[in-house]
Amino acid sequence: MKLLEVVGLEAGYGPTTVLRGLDFEVAEGGVTTLLGANGAGKTTTLRAICGMIPVRGQITLAGQRIDGRATEDIVRAGIAHVPDGRGTFMELTVEENMRLGAYTRRDRQIRPDFERMFGYFPRLKQRFRQQAGTLSGGEQQMLAIARALLLRPKLLLLDEPSFGLAPLIVREIFEIMRRINSEDGVGILVVEQNANLALSFADRAYLLETGRIVRAGPADELGRDEAIRRAYLGY
Ligand code: ATP
Repeated sequence: MKLLEVVGLEAGYGPTTVLRGLDFEVAEGGVTTLLGANGAGKTTTLRAICGMIPVRGQITLAGQRIDGRATEDIVRAGIAHVPDGRGTFMELTVEENMRLGAYTRRDRQIRPDFERMFGYFPRLKQRFRQQAGTLSGGEQQMLAIARALLLRPKLLLLDEPSFGLAPLIVREIFEIMRRINSEDGVGILVVEQNANLALSFADRAYLLETGRIVRAGPADELGRDEAIRRAYLGY
């Protein structure tokens, strides 16, 4: 069963076409990665899925068409986006940022979810009343992920979660994301420049070049692909 299915996705900015007909999927409970060089169209793909830019083609989440819908509807349908730059409100506290994460929830039962987030990210509990701007880069990434999870999504979109972070903290964050995937069954679509990291985390992978998918398959298979190894893995 597919959680996300994208068929013939085209999108761009004004007259400029960036995505030229992408087909890809995230399995139910799966982790998919989109790899590619700077400017290949990875960030644009996530924006297109979220309804932030106009699209052509079909995007289906758990059997429900979401292309052409407003971002807020797409969020309600079950997609949460952790954008590049993380989208944290620096002048607000950790608590306020987390409350904003739950803004579409009609129930008032967010406290147990906060506790669940503290289970994943104990540092957020320690920093709960602190301004987000005072957090380290890694803690800000944790806050951004926690905020997205408070929407109770079916699918989490992550744009370069490793960007600008030290290797140790990157490993910690990816280990937590693995738990989130396996314990909560949240599907993940992650865009990464760090191909090694992404291929070891994902079960399915796609390589993007100038808005087209040029390789697709199980992540371990792409990790053995000669061209990918030379261009992206450095061996
Ligand atoms: P990066 O790792 O640099 O973010 P990427 O694969 O995510 O790379 P995109 O950010 O999706 O690439 O960019 C794809 C193309 O779209 C690039 O040529 C870029 O210049 C262009 N582009 C991105 N954002 C805009 C925008 N807001 N307006 C116009 N063109 C844009």
